[in-house]
Amino acid sequence: MQKLEALAREAAQLAGQDAAAPASQSRVIRVLPLTDNEAEVARQMQICNACRYCEGFCAVFPAMTRRLEFGKADVNYLANLCHNCGACYHACQYAPPHDFGVNVPQAMAKVRLETYSEYAWPAPLGKLYQRNGLTVSVALAFGLALFLVLAATLGGALWQTHAGGNFYAVFPHNTLAALFGGVFGFAVLALGLGVRRFWRDVSAGTASAPAVAEAARNVLALTYLDGGHGDGCNEASDRFTLARRRFHHFTFYGFMLCFASTVVATGYHYLLGWHAPYPVTSLPVLLGTAGGAGLLVGPAGLLWLNLRRHPMHGDARQRPMDRGFIALLLLTSATGLGLLAGRGTAAMPLLLAVHLGVVMALFATLPYGKFAHGIYRSAALLKAAIEKRQKNKLQLGSD
Ligand code: SF4
Ligand code: SF4
Repeated sequence: MQKLEALAREAAQLAGQDAAAPASQSRVIRVLPLTDNEAEVARQMQICNACRYCEGFCAVFPAMTRRLEFGKADVNYLANLCHNCGACYHACQYAPPHDFGVNVPQAMAKVRLETYSEYAWPAPLGKLYQRNGLTVSVALAFGLALFLVLAATLGGALWQTHAGGNFYAVFPHNTLAALFGGVFGFAVLALGLGVRRFWRDVSAGTASAPAVAEAARNVLALTYLDGGHGDGCNEASDRFTLARRRFHHFTFYGFMLCFASTVVATGYHYLLGWHAPYPVTSLPVLLGTAGGAGLLVGPAGLLWLNLRRHPMHGDARQRPMDRGFIALLLLTSATGLGLLAGRGTAAMPLLLAVHLGVVMALFATLPYGKFAHGIYRSAALLKAAIEKRQKNKLQLGSD
């Protein structure tokens, strides 16, 4: 205990020095200047490294034990490996009001936001992560929907029945493909280049097939949202629950089913020459309906959890960004299912314009909002799977 307190005091002193401090005075800051939030994670990791009580909770602690010092890349990697499950906060004997003030989930959450901004492409747009809140998301969806409603009105097609509910009588197929392909392509490019920069900083090692398979399994199963013991995360209190894992699964697989529906419909259109609208029993409609239902249940549950989340778990400044993304997912599924229900009526053009506006807003905000967490966390899980297969140079006993 005395040894731990001495280490903690040393960590606090190290992290308390500013970036301008002489290099010889700081082991943490010597390698690369850390931001205040990164220095706080480095300080807490020094304490955790002496304590190691939470070693079995998640991938963060085994990765931590492979390090004695925490430079910028290490901190960014560990922050994105953290799932913010809250378990180590409730287990920690050094959490506030203890003088050590250890709150790993909160410290990691603050660094994650900095990571997204720092690695964003193009760099000036990284600031959008701080501004991409609920109001911006909903206003953007509303503005784009209004634009498309006006376009349909000018085309004289806003309120009329179209044979078979034909969407392309309202907006031509090629126009929609160019618009949505362009916005989605930009989102993929921006996120891909961002995570590539992150990977270059944090990674040393080649991804073997077993490492890729392990990381993929951890991503698809959300392994660490089981809390390391199978009972789940902490949400509003120290009680464990699997709710977040399940609502994430509804959301993720709902999104993937909707994506699969679009891919199948694209194949029908270009490869088979079968043009929409498709019957209710067709594969694209079945996939889209199942995905839409998942995207209603999952985000609604995540919003409910977000509203009740323990205030010490995360970074309160990021709640608007979280809720903005959840709101766009909910609006996308609700307007999509509404369009399916009303596609044979005169309201179809209006429903279509609103749905397309919401989907466009979702795509436009993908690279600069909460969606990024899935991409960066997947990269961090791959890094963890690679690293655990490498020899531990410290030989101090860990994973
Ligand atoms: S979070 Fe607290 S209990 Fe867990 S390893 Fe760190 S110092 Fe120890
Ligand atoms: S909050 Fe959960 S995932 Fe993050 S470091 Fe603590 S135990 Fe690990």
